Amino acid sequence: MFGSRSDSLNITAELLGLSDVKVNDVRTNLSAREITISVERTRKNIPCRQCGEPTKPHDMGRKLRLRHLPMFGKETIIEIIPRRGRCEHCDGGSTTTETLNWYDANRKLTKPLEHHLLFELVNSTVADVSRKADVDYHTVDALINRYIETEIDFSTIKALGVLGLDEISMKKGYRDFVTLITYRIDDKVSILGVVEGREKSNVIQFLRRIPHHLQKTISAVCCDLYDGYMNACKEVFDKTIPIIADRFHVRRLYRKSLVNLRKSELKKLKAALTAQEYSDLKPAIALLRKQKDHFTDEEKSVVEPLFSLSPKLKQGYQFSRELSGIFDSHITPEVAKEKMTKWINNVSAPELNCFNQFIKTLVSYQEQITNYFIARNTSGFVEGFNNRVKVLKRRCYGLSNTTKLFQRLLVDTMGMVRFAPGVTAF
Ligand SMILES: [Zn+2]
Repeated sequence: MFGSRSDSLNITAELLGLSDVKVNDVRTNLSAREITISVERTRKNIPCRQCGEPTKPHDMGRKLRLRHLPMFGKETIIEIIPRRGRCEHCDGGSTTTETLNWYDANRKLTKPLEHHLLFELVNSTVADVSRKADVDYHTVDALINRYIETEIDFSTIKALGVLGLDEISMKKGYRDFVTLITYRIDDKVSILGVVEGREKSNVIQFLRRIPHHLQKTISAVCCDLYDGYMNACKEVFDKTIPIIADRFHVRRLYRKSLVNLRKSELKKLKAALTAQEYSDLKPAIALLRKQKDHFTDEEKSVVEPLFSLSPKLKQGYQFSRELSGIFDSHITPEVAKEKMTKWINNVSAPELNCFNQFIKTLVSYQEQITNYFIARNTSGFVEGFNNRVKVLKRRCYGLSNTTKLFQRLLVDTMGMVRFAPGVTAF
């Protein structure tokens, strides 16, 4: 391609976001898919890398071509030939190559582009960012290790607010668990740590690392209904910090009971009905799979044929909706306890045993479950917490180890702020 000099294009170093350089030359090729900008360092003195004294001009280093932020949608290359200086003070006359803070000589990208790629990585994947930016996969992946710490730096945190402990499996359907520890201030959920497994001892080990002054800023701990977590929190934290089983943890359990009921009832119906009759129920089955608590009038008419064939299923859904209704009400823990006891009695009355296992959990974790009602009334505890964690969890699938997982979640939760354009001056 023939290069053409563009005299009318007046690009300044300021516009490029690069300090301590001036633009010498801007070239675009005929197909105009690439812009090459030659720059030169404005400060002439090069302090010796050994003694810091000014050096005498010596020669030039090799020409560097660095990918920069795309301009006008075109791939943009910054060219610079670093000068070298020779020291008159140091033995052997050591040479020093000039440096600038917006690139590393052994990298192929400018730092503003690296920050931009990390920004793009928020809630995205390395593969996606690599493809869209046309930067190879390993270059993008390596940025994570260079820029993102492998464990939390407690000194960067002022307060923890609501602490969350959740178990997750790294691969969908697999049973190798890790523990996700998050914290929520106002409405923002951030990652604190990822712990291997979900054993109490591992969790305790992590929780003990939280500095004492930060432990004092914990207003509540919200965790999965799991003895290991509950007991770890009780051992480490002050008794005054309430431990809460969030309604979503509870809901997950009673919805699971409902799913089991649905499967067994459908199996019976499939055996009893003709293929056509069963096929006619498909819209109703699809609707039940959506795990909704409430049906619109239109949806009710869709599920009604199925419910009339299986009164048990209808009853199961009614009880599930009732329980969700209790969680929806703004009531005190005492009133919640009463309502739940009544619910348990009602469910136990008919020949409906799908909730038996769940009821055991409801009884043994009654305190933590009803603590939800204190938390939501006093500390503005909202459902957003778990929805956010749910999004984080989905991001965990396919990541190979806890360190990598922590780094990716850190990018997701703070990358928007840390790598936003203009946050760092180069
Ligand atoms: Zn020197």
